[in-house]
Amino acid sequence: SDEGEAVVAAVAAVADRIEAERSHLTDLDSAIGDADHGGNMARGWAAAAEAVEGMDDPEPTDVVKMAGKTLLSEVGGASGPLYGGSLVFASPELEGGITEETAVAFAETYLEKVQDRGDARVGDKTMVDALVPAVHTFKKSIEVDDMAPVAALSKAVAAAQRGVDFTVPIRASKGRASYLGWRSVGHQDPGATSTLYIMEELLDVAT
Ligand code: ADP
Ligand code: MG
Ligand code: MG
Repeated sequence: SDEGEAVVAAVAAVADRIEAERSHLTDLDSAIGDADHGGNMARGWAAAAEAVEGMDDPEPTDVVKMAGKTLLSEVGGASGPLYGGSLVFASPELEGGITEETAVAFAETYLEKVQDRGDARVGDKTMVDALVPAVHTFKKSIEVDDMAPVAALSKAVAAAQRGVDFTVPIRASKGRASYLGWRSVGHQDPGATSTLYIMEELLDVAT
């Protein structure tokens, strides 16, 4: 379907952006981790883009599921299961296509799975710091403020950016960065940053 092709294009856009940010993401991870987040994400999203390119007239739910499965198999570390597993788990929410309702349900289920798997909360200095405000803002903008989906996504991206900024002054309590304790303070979280970039590309494709 056209919607399925749009999701294929979104995965390709994410792969290009992540490749362009590869060294920046690696620099962020070298400060408070093991310097592999750029490589992990770039390898995973390139493989995901290739996998979804080869699908025959897919629906959105199939594309997201395939992208997630590919990330799961290509990316080790913390981020592979968190990104890949959560995309696979949330993909059925898009059965029947992309509407305001299914998009909100997808975002909520994705966040739920990230938190189930990683057990991180806001303030632990992880991708959750970008995701929680983004998902809540997206949902509220659509359900309460009655905004159009693209406007709601734009609000959500701004919220994710504030979440990324919030990771800088705080101490990590989950993931590798937590091994550094207070020495993690003053550094931006790589996974929150890649989450922001992905959201920016979704907005760009939707606009
Ligand atoms: P690894 O740390 O295993 O090398 P990556 O470098 O690819 O994996 O990813 C690191 C990112 O994963 C962190 O910046 C953080 O955002 C995210 N992360 C790590 N642990 C968790 C967790 N328990 N919950 C949510 N996100 C996490
Ligand atoms: Mg790492
Ligand atoms: Mg690693």
